[in-house]
Amino acid sequence: MNYEQIIQSTVKSNNSKIVLLVLDGIGDIRNIKFKNKTPLEYAHTPNLDKLAKESVTGRMHPILPGITPGSGPGHLGLFGYDPIDNSIGRGVLEAIGIDFELKSYDVAARCNFATMNDNGLITDRRAGRIPTEMTIELCNSLKSIHEIDGVEIIIKPGKGHRFVTIFRSKEKEIGSMINDTDPLVEGKAPLVATGKNPPSQFLSKVINQFIKKGYDLLKDKHPANAFLMRGIASKPKIPSMRDKYLLESAAIATYPMYRGIASLLGMTLLPAPDSIEGLFETYINYHHKYDFFFIHVKGTDQAGEDGDFDSKVSCIEKVDQALPIILENKPNVLAITGDHSSPCAMHSHSWHPIPLLLHSQFAGLDDVKKFHENACNNGGLGFFESKYLMGLLLANAKRLDKFGA
Ligand SMILES: [Zn+2]
Repeated sequence: MNYEQIIQSTVKSNNSKIVLLVLDGIGDIRNIKFKNKTPLEYAHTPNLDKLAKESVTGRMHPILPGITPGSGPGHLGLFGYDPIDNSIGRGVLEAIGIDFELKSYDVAARCNFATMNDNGLITDRRAGRIPTEMTIELCNSLKSIHEIDGVEIIIKPGKGHRFVTIFRSKEKEIGSMINDTDPLVEGKAPLVATGKNPPSQFLSKVINQFIKKGYDLLKDKHPANAFLMRGIASKPKIPSMRDKYLLESAAIATYPMYRGIASLLGMTLLPAPDSIEGLFETYINYHHKYDFFFIHVKGTDQAGEDGDFDSKVSCIEKVDQALPIILENKPNVLAITGDHSSPCAMHSHSWHPIPLLLHSQFAGLDDVKKFHENACNNGGLGFFESKYLMGLLLANAKRLDKFGA
């Protein structure tokens, strides 16, 4: 019996409430330019620090030591789904994230409008980051391609220069083992789609025809006279949070990708205003309706990727100021952590372990009095992999029975 099976055999239902507050990319490293502190250390966070004194802390490896995860695997781990065994393609996340109901026989691709020169080389992979309104207009032109070789083609605009293409085929099997057409660098031609098995080879031919027809429709639409495809994928078969943990769960997240993951795991998507206060107020408004709440704050990751230390600090301080809203109706278990680190000095995600604060009546206390990476190094939970967090949350919520006699 493995860990997930033990959880499944011991889990039970009760009236407890669990809140998992994810500050995306929160983990960081000390920065010599900022008094040798991390953004969490540098920020003024009286509420988080008070909570840390009443909690147990630790640090989590999102996957395994040294492995830098994307936000997808980072979140799967947090929800107790082994991020190595379960992978969700980006196309699927984008499709579900814009509330598109993906079928088992669909294949979705994440697409970017791009600029191509007369020699067929990509000069801008994001078409100068055209606004959403223009993307909607361009998608309307592409929508004249309804079907190729019996495969239905559905086009949905996303944010900025992004859109999603869904290939739907009820009759003939289509596969998703197909490469990205994005060459990843400018100055190169888009790659030709190639399938690795017969159903994928069939779809790759459809995709290549779609691209040809699409480029024809866009030829006068400079700077968006081409598009690139990434993360071609079909919907994975993953048990829901209800089936796995007997939890009625809900997500409060603004960005498509996180809404996508949550929806795939059977979480109800709740209203998610742009402000942090707004996110926390949604929890208060719905707290009686669900057992588990996933609240996602994106600002910390964006600041980390932009290398903007001040903005990461400011986002952390906003979370701190708004924290009393959640505490007004304190859940039985509250965990505050991230899906991975995004150190400002690296302008990217990283492998560094994430700080974790776990608050519940039964969590116990450690000597940690502040919530930041270096304090959490001495936390009572030590270092462990994110995929074990759900077990701790359920245990603290008294939702796990004894294992064995
Ligand atoms: Zn992330």
